[in-house]
Amino acid sequence: CEEEVLITGCSSGIGLALAAKLATDGQQRFKVFATMRNLAKRSALEEAAGDALNRTLEIKELDVCSEHSIRKCVDTIPDRRVDILINNAGVGLIGPIECQSIQDMQAVFETNFFGVVRMIKEVLPDMKKRKSGHIVVISSVMGLQGIMFNDVYAASKFAIEGFCESLVFQTMKFNIFITLIEPGPVKTEFELKTYEEAERGDYSKTDPETADIFINYYLKNCKEIFSSLGQTPEDIAEHTLRIVTMETAPFRHQTNQVYTPVTALKYADPSGELVTNVFYKMVFQHDTLMHASLRAIKLLRWKANKVQQGARILGFM
Ligand code: NAD
Repeated sequence: CEEEVLITGCSSGIGLALAAKLATDGQQRFKVFATMRNLAKRSALEEAAGDALNRTLEIKELDVCSEHSIRKCVDTIPDRRVDILINNAGVGLIGPIECQSIQDMQAVFETNFFGVVRMIKEVLPDMKKRKSGHIVVISSVMGLQGIMFNDVYAASKFAIEGFCESLVFQTMKFNIFITLIEPGPVKTEFELKTYEEAERGDYSKTDPETADIFINYYLKNCKEIFSSLGQTPEDIAEHTLRIVTMETAPFRHQTNQVYTPVTALKYADPSGELVTNVFYKMVFQHDTLMHASLRAIKLLRWKANKVQQGARILGFM
């Protein structure tokens, strides 16, 4: 039977690729409500959807920052039935915090955190009544690990991860899955928009050393990371398709294996020393992410050995 999927932020990037992927599914398992804030930007999605348009894919207006817009959109869906909600809409913000206004920071939380909360509040009661559903959030590896100059963006993703970690116990009771998808870098407009804005920015409010690290080191390095390790929106769509078709969906799913050992460091060392050292070396001692990952794997193995030794001493092994 066809599942009704609502996706936010479908005018570009991951949302667009995902909406097209699900709507053109060979087994026709999905009816997709591909939503976007501004319908004037629908043409790229229409093109990607091809024959699926107005058959297995309908485009609707939805602004995740407006409860009214969300309610209006969901009310147009037959029986308000959303089997799978995919929270994809998001915005970025990079740079030294001294150069960002509190309003800029709040805007990130309005979309990345409260936007998802508003969506979940709208569909959860109906999912609970039906005792079924799947809520997917396109989070980020930055929902697990902070990265320099991404302070507020990472905080917004941490916030939604904390929200979902708490909510999942309740939803499990109602047979509703929650999955946090955690991509590393993805080559989309997101990256372009964020870096273009950063390049135009005024860094007079920070000290020259910080401005220099951001402009001459961070921005350049990021471009290299995106071009060498960046996935495509289609890759993320493929991962998400696999997740929403699983019998039992996982709570977390990372799409880029390079980041897995690095994000695991935090759990291996509660003091935070391992992870801060690895990232510091990556940034200031020109260590590559690949090297950091390899070292992280070695450190994790060493840590696992220590845990095993401890378990043996305590007689658990
Ligand atoms: P993108 O900029 O192409 O897509 C984001 C979409 O969200 C856009 O279509 C935008 O119009 C929409 N949006 C913004 N505010 C909205 C609002 N108030 N209401 C409705 N839609 C709104 O970038 P993307 O990379 O496809 O980003 C999608 C998601 O993936 C985001 O949540 C982002 O945080 C996450 N992500 C991106 C990357 C990356 O490197 N690009 C990495 C990890 C996670």
